[in-house]
Amino acid sequence: MKQIYFDNNATTQVAPEVLEAMLPYFSPQYGNASSMHSFGRDAKVGLENARESCAEILSAEPSEIVFCSGGTEADNICLKGAARALKHKRRRIVISAIEHSAILQSAESLAQEGFDVQIAPVTSEGFVTTETLANLVDEDTAIVSIMQANNEIGTIQDIPALVEIAHAKGALFHTDAVQAFGKIPVSVEELGVDLLSLSAHKIYGPKGTGLAFVRSGVKIESLVQGGSHEKSRRPGTENVPGIIGLTKAMEVSVTMIEEEYLRLNRLSQRFLTSVRANIADVILNGPEFPESEISNLPDSLLRTPQTVNLSFAGAEGEAIILSLDLEGIAVSSGSACSAGAVDPSPVLLAIGQTPELAKSSIRFSMGRHTTQDEIEYVGNVLPKIIERLRSMSPAYAASKR
Ligand SMILES: *Cc1c(COP(=O)(O)O)cnc(C)c1O
Repeated sequence: MKQIYFDNNATTQVAPEVLEAMLPYFSPQYGNASSMHSFGRDAKVGLENARESCAEILSAEPSEIVFCSGGTEADNICLKGAARALKHKRRRIVISAIEHSAILQSAESLAQEGFDVQIAPVTSEGFVTTETLANLVDEDTAIVSIMQANNEIGTIQDIPALVEIAHAKGALFHTDAVQAFGKIPVSVEELGVDLLSLSAHKIYGPKGTGLAFVRSGVKIESLVQGGSHEKSRRPGTENVPGIIGLTKAMEVSVTMIEEEYLRLNRLSQRFLTSVRANIADVILNGPEFPESEISNLPDSLLRTPQTVNLSFAGAEGEAIILSLDLEGIAVSSGSACSAGAVDPSPVLLAIGQTPELAKSSIRFSMGRHTTQDEIEYVGNVLPKIIERLRSMSPAYAASKR
């Protein structure tokens, strides 16, 4: 059976050039980057070259890069680390209502430590407006954390405008750029952020590796103790193969941004058009797509091109996932992190979906390997599945009478 992977926002396959770059660092260049001998020096050279390359891609300085185990840890390092370092000066934290659970739960634990956590609501398309943020940020605010691109619905925030509001009150700004990097340009200089998170496995790199950008001069309290690695901001022997893989994945991704944006925007448009033509009562969650015939990256980017999150009234999300899986098609409902739980997605509730519709939502996330054929195949299979599930729903039938 054909296998179709439309779950690239959950994770991606490791690119061949990434794997190839990593292999020598498992063996023969397996040294500990802290060792003084030649094995150690070889690993250290690989590590520091990687740091320079990551920094250059992000328009940062090498000393501002803290390698860690991925997006979740980077979010924790940035939010908890920076807030705790400021705990005697500022006590407020502002995050958005559609953050990844790594930020939501870090904020909850900071609230238990006595911080005043404020949650910025979003519009029906998932945007945090400058007015909303300005009402929440005050002179007591330590840090604001708002993701650049949302993993479930694809909304891209106007980060520079939001940073301006935080900085006007002397607050730090963190952005989770895990879903933005590689899809749209990400430069810490242009964004103006003080802290930023990245993960390798969302960009065709290995799982368990990522980085935090921590602007020079910004203090963070380390979450773990144990050594002077990463300037004591993240102690522990560095995962050199993983870091080499992350770096290669970043290098490859940035060369393809515009081409992939246009290609995936076109594919997503085709998919959406086909779904809308063949299935009634479908809602697109998040902003509309730009026109499919654009030939340059638009000036203002409102959504990522690969994320198509749809609500199918009268059909349960879990049932749709299983039915598609039987056809060899992999998708997800809500965020992968909350899969298994039956709770509706907090992101969809935050944009104003009813709990019922939120539970009837599916995220199709295309990627580097998605083809026109796959789009057509899924577009053909889906209407039959939705029709069958709806025919078994008395509530949906009643709503049509
Ligand atoms: C996947 C993801 C994370 C978590 O990254 P991991 O490397 O899997 O820990 C954080 N934020 C966003 C937006 C993500 O999509």
